[in-house]
Amino acid sequence: MSQVPNARVEAVYFSSAGGETAVSSCLSAPIAIECARTTTNDFCRSPTADTRHPKRQAENIVYAHPFSYHRAGSLLEASELLQQLGEEARLIAGGQSLIPLMKMRMVRPSALVDINFIPGLSEIRCSDGQLRFGALARHADIEESDAASSIPIVQDCAAGIADVQVRNQGTIGGSLAEADPSGDWGAVLLTLETSVRCSRPSGERTIALDDFFKDAYTTVLGHDELISEIIVKQPAKNSAGAYLAFKRSAPVYATASAAVQLTLGDSDTCKDVRIVLGCVGLTAIRAKEAEKTLREKKLEKKRIDSAVEAVRAAAEPQDDMRGSADYKRVLIAALVKRAIGIAARRARGEQVEAGHEYVGR
Ligand SMILES: Cc1cc2nc3c(=O)[nH]c(=O)nc-3n(C[C@H](O)[C@H](O)[C@H](O)COP(=O)(O)OP(=O)(O)OC[C@H]3O[C@@H](n4cnc5c(N)ncnc54)[C@H](O)[C@@H]3O)c2cc1C
Repeated sequence: MSQVPNARVEAVYFSSAGGETAVSSCLSAPIAIECARTTTNDFCRSPTADTRHPKRQAENIVYAHPFSYHRAGSLLEASELLQQLGEEARLIAGGQSLIPLMKMRMVRPSALVDINFIPGLSEIRCSDGQLRFGALARHADIEESDAASSIPIVQDCAAGIADVQVRNQGTIGGSLAEADPSGDWGAVLLTLETSVRCSRPSGERTIALDDFFKDAYTTVLGHDELISEIIVKQPAKNSAGAYLAFKRSAPVYATASAAVQLTLGDSDTCKDVRIVLGCVGLTAIRAKEAEKTLREKKLEKKRIDSAVEAVRAAAEPQDDMRGSADYKRVLIAALVKRAIGIAARRARGEQVEAGHEYVGR
């Protein structure tokens, strides 16, 4: 049991019911929580699984390893719980990355600290020239938020992540903390001046997003540290961006994605630009050479073509089930070229649709 005062601690198991797992990705709903003060493996087995045959039994396991469940009521309580419960404890937000991994037993946290009940952590608001997202802001809330509509590239991203179920549960804080190289938020937010506010037992710190990701699935966050807020500086006048992600179907990650944010000056000069490539490296890649090709120059075809060449060189794709490295290099170049065009049109005041695109459409 936790020693944190006022912490609501409930040992839980995620049970099976009628042969189907009762695990809900909707962890904020109490339905997934049952008190069962036990640590036996019996609760990890489906009642319909064939328990006489060990091989089949193993094949049937899609249940998380037992863990204790702790509901935090504040940021401080959450970080203190993480500290007390040790290295094997994990936070849970939307559960859209963590629960599938737990069910496949690719991760086996000994304890989960649920932050869904911390008040005020889902807020999205504009203040002092900044757009501020609470860590628990769901992708769907961002998609529909009036505040977020002031930065079109943010809505391109939110509206296209996976399918509606994932968007309703998944959070912006969880996405950044997961640091999945195929995740959409990292690439998009790196084109903007973004910082991440973090909370730990010893206090708070704010980290520039450029310094946040260390490697695939690895950030600078300490074990007892959580993201509380994501802060994006409102772009300058005559700025706009576009995010294009190319994928096979809604519930899969993109094959490649391109995020471009630029500011136009007089006579169609590109005053400033950031270009970030997604899914073609171990982290999102800032294509700085490509940016240099465009910065302070007139946005014209030959310059854009040079920038696209530089993008091809910057990408570090790998062959995988989504395509060969060569294919992804061609794809990322085409996506960046289109994203530059859309960002420029938007910066000139045009309304242009952009976002996730699907094979065959
Ligand atoms: C079928 C499917 C398709 C998907 N497709 C896409 C896609 O196309 N693009 C995309 O970007 N994402 C995709 N996702 C992932 C989705 O966006 C998740 O919402 C996101 O990756 C994680 O957010 P979460 O709130 O669910 O985090 P959780 O799963 O709850 O947590 C993920 C990790 O982050 C940690 N964590 C959570 N919140 C915090 C916090 N505030 N501070 C510190 N650590 C924290 C947890 O401990 C855990 O390690 C997909 C998911 C699924 C299931």
